[in-house]
Amino acid sequence: MYKELNATLRTIMTPGPVEVDPRVLRAMCTPILGQFDPAFTTLMNETMEMIRRVFQTENQWAFPIDGTSRAGIEAVLASLIEPGDLVFVPIYGRFGHLLVEIAQRYGAKVATIETEWGSVFEPQVVIDEIKRVKPKIVAMVHGETSTGCMQPLKEIGAACRAQDVLFVVDAVATLGGTEVKVDEWKIDAAIGGAQKCLSVPSGMAPITFNARVEKILLQRKKIERGLADPATYDAEQDRLIRTNYFDLSQLMDYWSPVRLNHHTEATSMLYALREGLRLVLEEGLEERFARHKLHEAALTAGIKAMGLNLYGDSAAKLPVVTAISIPDGIDGEAVRAMLLNDFEIEIASSFGPLKGKIWRIGSMGYSCRQKNILHVLSALEAVLYRHHAKISLGDAVQAALDVYHKKN
Ligand SMILES: *Cc1c(COP(=O)(O)O)cnc(C)c1O
Repeated sequence: MYKELNATLRTIMTPGPVEVDPRVLRAMCTPILGQFDPAFTTLMNETMEMIRRVFQTENQWAFPIDGTSRAGIEAVLASLIEPGDLVFVPIYGRFGHLLVEIAQRYGAKVATIETEWGSVFEPQVVIDEIKRVKPKIVAMVHGETSTGCMQPLKEIGAACRAQDVLFVVDAVATLGGTEVKVDEWKIDAAIGGAQKCLSVPSGMAPITFNARVEKILLQRKKIERGLADPATYDAEQDRLIRTNYFDLSQLMDYWSPVRLNHHTEATSMLYALREGLRLVLEEGLEERFARHKLHEAALTAGIKAMGLNLYGDSAAKLPVVTAISIPDGIDGEAVRAMLLNDFEIEIASSFGPLKGKIWRIGSMGYSCRQKNILHVLSALEAVLYRHHAKISLGDAVQAALDVYHKKN
């Protein structure tokens, strides 16, 4: 009745999910191991080590949260926020609003500032506001996939540490594609994404946090122990971490030699993430970031040569997402549909105020390679020509080839 599963091989050039390296797909076909089998706990430990290296941190705590990237964000915020805590979120795109929403759901009072989409904050503006608002936590997005912009974090991190404020960073879009220096930038907790630059299927979120975060988690854990004793529990129940699944203090006992049972680890996803991280480290962080820059250069050269305009502040461009203004009179969705139906290429639209105004082309992980860049440029040119857009014909692929041939 139902046909056998038969997903076609698309060229996926969105800001996630992206194409998955065949080695990762093969790893997912590996037989299941029990979660306390030493053969499996060894794989868990290796995955922790590799997560540390990719986040460029010495933190003890680095492990994946089972769930999509927002599960990682939710675990960090839910475990840190006590009702009434003040959380400050500088917003420059859609995912800033996600941080606000999650923080509010866990009872935080949220203060925000917002800058125009397509730009980022001057760090000093954020720092001045931190000094004024005096939050317990600053939560910020590193790479805003919705606008294609990337926020410099180093000065903000240093200011947070100096003010003894916790600095939580959504590095979902950037981890594995461009520098994310957790220790150097004084990030207290960071969340990465699997289906973005790590090129692993969606379903797991690598996170890391330091001893400053751990201290708060351990304090709150005492209350959980008090659950058995109504007298102490009643007095302190407001401080209980309001989630079991995302309680980092419980997860610490799962991802450590204590190995206290929490959830059942998502076995095949762990294989996938481990292989994805192994690919990152095999390639080398610097080499991988340089590869993403090279293909970004070829893509943007091609887009400009075609006569299209990049959207947003070029000085703040996120290297792994290229936002393009949809030319006047062109139906962006019709172009996307033709790319998909005739060329089997997927590119993205955007959200909120940018809906219908920009396309977003991701160049992340395994999707970020010469074949895909040339393919998307030539297809976009053909589709735009068919839609009677005023573009310059024949120049896009040549401009991209110029970038590639100069490199070689
Ligand atoms: C994709 C993305 C998310 C959400 O990830 P999910 O895996 O869909 O939950 C959060 N933040 C940023 C910056 C992203 O790019």
